[in-house]
Amino acid sequence: METLKNKVAVVTGGNSGIGYATAVELKAAGAKVIITGRRKEAIETAARELGVTGFVADQSSLADIEHLVERVKDEFGKVDILFINAGILGGGAIAEATEETFDSVIGVNFKGAYFTLSRFIPLLNDGSSVVFLSSNTASMSAANSSIYSSTKAALNSVMKIAAVELAPRRIRVNAVSPGPIATEILNKQGLTEEQLEGLKEWIIGRVPLQQMGRAGDVGKMVVQLSGEASSFITGAEFLMDGGMSL
Ligand code: NAP
Repeated sequence: METLKNKVAVVTGGNSGIGYATAVELKAAGAKVIITGRRKEAIETAARELGVTGFVADQSSLADIEHLVERVKDEFGKVDILFINAGILGGGAIAEATEETFDSVIGVNFKGAYFTLSRFIPLLNDGSSVVFLSSNTASMSAANSSIYSSTKAALNSVMKIAAVELAPRRIRVNAVSPGPIATEILNKQGLTEEQLEGLKEWIIGRVPLQQMGRAGDVGKMVVQLSGEASSFITGAEFLMDGGMSL
């Protein structure tokens, strides 16, 4: 059913994984979708496959965010759904942290997400839906995850404050916090095939439902949160982690 017919939706980090799957769901629900990503070729391929608009933008760069907002404004005028999804993994033990990893993970996951919301606010129609892609790690305390998990905890805080600030315009702001979802993110960690399989097995062993989640299910949740049936939901975080954080 086209519950989002003619709505304009922006998905940051839409060339793979959860962003890509969410673009599929938003389009199926009738929205006009714009995806972003850093890699030109990947964004062009994804945009072509999906039949959506693709813009190259590094979400960790304020200049790129502002340029993106200008391009969306010129081509689409206004935005109804903003899915702030672009993110990277990274970290390690606190004792061994490097400034480079700290800056790159905070730069995309927190600074980038924060300024994406900030600069898109003037373009959001009243009654819009903003969804942050957070993580169940924001409310867990796993060793070696301090930088990544902190960025997601920070997003949850911004999400609630934004929900209050934007409520007068009936703009709703929520967060989805997945547990392990089968996407390309783990493949980007430079692990061997064997290490990757071992890691996946270890992760699944920690999930009560004994499986990785599906990116498409996260996409369906974003569609649900952006539709009429969610008109009284704001400032809420939705865990989708197979019980991992229980
Ligand atoms: P993914 O397949 O690696 O997708 C990440 C997307 O973000 C890609 O499209 C990537 O595009 C984009 N991206 C990364 N840095 C960017 C930047 N600086 N500017 C613009 N785009 C950028 O991973 P995913 O699993 O779908 O991750 C999506 C989000 O879900 C992330 O925020 C992640 O933290 C969160 N999450 C994932 C899981 C999981 O288990 N998969 C669990 C909880 C939360 P480029 O490659 O072109 O940069």
